[in-house]
Amino acid sequence: MLRAHDLDAFVASAPANVTYLTGFSGDSSSLVLTEKRAIVVSDGRFTTQLAQECPDLETDIRRPAEESPHALARVVEMLGVRRVGFEALARTVADHEAIQGASKTVEWAPTHGWVEALREIKDDLEIAAVRQAVQYAEDAFAMLKATLDLDDTEKKTADDLESHLRKAGATGSSFPPIVAVGRRSALPHARPTAETRIGDDDFVLVDWGATGRPYKSDLTRVLVTGKVTTTFEKIYRIVLAAQEQAIRAIRPGACAGDVDGAARRVVEEAGYGAFFDHGLGHGVGLEIHEGPRLRRGATGVLAAGMIVTVEPGIYLADWGGIRIEDDVLVTEGGCEVLSRLPRTLESTVLAAPVSLGC
Ligand code: ZN
Ligand code: ZN
Repeated sequence: MLRAHDLDAFVASAPANVTYLTGFSGDSSSLVLTEKRAIVVSDGRFTTQLAQECPDLETDIRRPAEESPHALARVVEMLGVRRVGFEALARTVADHEAIQGASKTVEWAPTHGWVEALREIKDDLEIAAVRQAVQYAEDAFAMLKATLDLDDTEKKTADDLESHLRKAGATGSSFPPIVAVGRRSALPHARPTAETRIGDDDFVLVDWGATGRPYKSDLTRVLVTGKVTTTFEKIYRIVLAAQEQAIRAIRPGACAGDVDGAARRVVEEAGYGAFFDHGLGHGVGLEIHEGPRLRRGATGVLAAGMIVTVEPGIYLADWGGIRIEDDVLVTEGGCEVLSRLPRTLESTVLAAPVSLGC
């Protein structure tokens, strides 16, 4: 890889990429790779953690008085390398200027997405770690359903969900959970408020996930806390059909844009195409949003080992939004939905004795 790009060394600095390549789960550190050596450049806060998490790796711990860009420049100069690739997205202009200024003999070459591309395909251990994160999320959701109080606010419910995630075994939430009641669910990234109560409308959308060891999960379900209205039933069935069509299209060799298209066609044919205005899904792993992206026009090709979310939604500003999200593993023979929470219309109803009229 280095030779093909006429590089003597490569520096990974994006925290998830450093974790992926080394097993080190801290941050503020870089990994310098040459053909013969791998050195983690870090600071004193991580000395013990590095020794525990990657004992076989060479480390360079900077002194407290040395700035991080200078430490990296010093290590690269010490290696005597000429041309070094760095991750363009993981470096600020200010850091780049400082590093360049302190390593005058080195030519720095920007690279894009090299490690991210490797991360798209998960090995068995990574798949097991995502499975575990999905399980944490599902266990936490079961606790939430069992204790959901219609008088609680969105914020209290989101806080409770984070607590349930930790009780279930997760290290925490993979992102701040979305708990959006009724009309507020029309905002795909609604922030839970301390004013709106769960019982203020007929349904609540919950989008949540767990961070495990240290892989993540990402799920969305809608719970009916009041009546199953005709609009709810209609929109829910369209979104569910869209999700099912997309899942059916997932297999090795499938084009990411076509999987998005499979869901989008269902929503468009039902007349709601204009109200599904985000991509169908994204990869999930060490980060909550990573490659591959499933969206309109995406040219990426799916391969066994990828894990993607499938999350179509319809959002009506004066009514609310419905999204259903699951995490799906691309397998040799097609795909496997890792999340096991039911998705039927009936399963959305919180209190059992509600007539669905269907
Ligand atoms: Zn989500
Ligand atoms: Zn998502």
